Amino acid sequence: MLKLIIVMGANCTGKTYFINTHFRDCKADILNVYDYQQRAYNEAGFGESIPLSAQFGCLMRANNLLLADTINKLQAGRDVVVEQTFYKAKRRIAFIDAIREALGTAEIKTEIYVMCPDDARWEANLRERGSNRSVESCRKQAAEEIEFPNPVEGFDEIYEVTGEKIRLRMDTLQPEIVDRAREELAQEAERIQAENEKKRRRRELIESMNTRPFWHYCEVCGKKEFITADEAFNSGWDYPPQMGIFGLLGPRKCGNCSIINTLYWKIHTPGRFPIVLEGELSPEELITWRRIKNEPESLLHDENSNNDIS
Ligand SMILES: [Zn+2]
Repeated sequence: MLKLIIVMGANCTGKTYFINTHFRDCKADILNVYDYQQRAYNEAGFGESIPLSAQFGCLMRANNLLLADTINKLQAGRDVVVEQTFYKAKRRIAFIDAIREALGTAEIKTEIYVMCPDDARWEANLRERGSNRSVESCRKQAAEEIEFPNPVEGFDEIYEVTGEKIRLRMDTLQPEIVDRAREELAQEAERIQAENEKKRRRRELIESMNTRPFWHYCEVCGKKEFITADEAFNSGWDYPPQMGIFGLLGPRKCGNCSIINTLYWKIHTPGRFPIVLEGELSPEELITWRRIKNEPESLLHDENSNNDIS
């Protein structure tokens, strides 16, 4: 029978050490989520510092890569040991569901080990990693965020690991955990799909700006023309996509006017911190600034035409 072993727990709780001590000699393949996270960050073009907005996507990507490899190895008849934080029941349920679905009727025994170190061990691990976090704060965070696995999630055996003690802990079945997880996962899938759809539409719109005619407004002389980017460039306009980036402050002017009279120039005065304060702008500058912030949508329709059904 195939075997899937998952080792979960907070950071610095000794997951890797536990795996090396107990499973290094068995013939299983060992997969560590940290390797996949690194890959996901690199793919997304991030090194050490990852913006918070990109973190969720990268962690999901890493989890999916790990899942795909786990399935591939099990399908090839290999036992697998997975190291993953797996705080939430819904993540574990989704993982196990996907594996069972991909493996069809193949029998798989699933075990999960939850690292629950005592203070001394956790403290030692933190110092070894060079972390200056206190055990108390780690323990508090773990207590708040980690949901201890319940047998309803689909595990055959669940173990609590404290120091050298490995204790089988099969809590009372709580079917509502699965119901709630599936509901949350469905909502999450819907949200991710909507976000992806929004990003796709945005990409298509930006792409279309290379070829479609759109409104070019000269912020200096007030001239406006409904022309393509090529036509604008050839007649001397400073306008994205050829000059500057949609939505970011830059000169927006015709070929007859000087950059010195643009909002961009004013904001980038030497010795002044280049930040736009709306309260300091003239009414004309405010119109320019808001138009720029709302690009490219603000350039699709003539802003002076009244499209209302009156
Ligand atoms: Zn002009």
